[in-house]
Amino acid sequence: MIRRVLLAASRSARAREFVVATPVTRRVVDRFVAGERPLDALEVVRGLAGEGILATVDRLGERGADLTDAREATTAYLGLLDLAEDAGLAAGLDVSVKLSALGRLIPCGGWKICYDNAAEICARAAVVGATVTLDAEEHTTIEPALRLLTDLRRDHPATGAVLQAYLRRTEDDCRRFAVAGARVRLCKGAYRAPRDVAWTHRPEADAAYARCLRILMAGDGYPMVATHDPSLLALAERLAEEHGRAASSFEYQLLHGIRPHEQLRLASIGAQVRVYLPYGPDWYPYLLRRMAERPANLALFLRALRSQ
Ligand code: FAD
Repeated sequence: MIRRVLLAASRSARAREFVVATPVTRRVVDRFVAGERPLDALEVVRGLAGEGILATVDRLGERGADLTDAREATTAYLGLLDLAEDAGLAAGLDVSVKLSALGRLIPCGGWKICYDNAAEICARAAVVGATVTLDAEEHTTIEPALRLLTDLRRDHPATGAVLQAYLRRTEDDCRRFAVAGARVRLCKGAYRAPRDVAWTHRPEADAAYARCLRILMAGDGYPMVATHDPSLLALAERLAEEHGRAASSFEYQLLHGIRPHEQLRLASIGAQVRVYLPYGPDWYPYLLRRMAERPANLALFLRALRSQ
């Protein structure tokens, strides 16, 4: 129930206005978001590198409703990659991009605009030694997004996919992408989806994640295990052993600010760990999705409000 309300609020302009205008929100935001500027994000990237942890940087902003917005987002990613190169942090860096930010919401020709923008970011990433991963969004966008990814991978084969285990279709998608050269992030899924397309009860979604993980870890691709769930992290470790996977043949991915001790523990046992690091002023929908995942985060926010 709370989850549903929060996910609806993540799309509400009124709720956004209230939350953004509340001064104490900043304290909660700081836990999950690296800062507003690209340099804030790169400072965190440098700190993580010192701990043996990689990063995928996400420039927050999901409302590329017109050409200007989409261009601004694209330019911001290009600038981030240039700054990362200047700072000596580009090699091995990944950037996570949302197709909605790159123009897919533009009514006429949005997918084509979005493809061109994504291709430009992928090309720049390749030049500086970085990679790009396309975040997964609402269930209605998955099929066209995977088609776009397949097209993009012809010229930019390192571009990563994201699959959401809570969707019923995803086991098939895992088979489709468990192939040599494919980088595939498997997450549970953070959006609302109806019962006919998604496993809407948590135990079902967790079981689906385990099935998808088995397919990816048995395949020839490069799985990116994106979860904080202790039992699924342990399963990934067992499956890597079972399939004789070297530590360099897959990675764990966790969100900035969530289970930091586990991030360090995994890195300390020689696993590849990458932290998903969002930055930017447009943090509202991201914050609401993190609260929807975990009511304790909502409590944190409400406590901060009360102590104002
Ligand atoms: P859960 O069962 O939700 O959590 C397991 C445990 O992790 C919890 O008990 C708690 O200890 C901890 N935890 C989980 N979430 C939180 C939180 N918000 N605050 C504090 N503790 C928490 N979703 C998409 O739909 N599209 C994407 O492109 C996408 N990319 C992602 C990239 C990465 C690297 C990660 C880690 C997640 C991504 N997600 C994405 C979000 C994902 O779908 C889940 O919503 C999110 O990861 C929570 O699921 P979980 O696997 O951690 O398991």
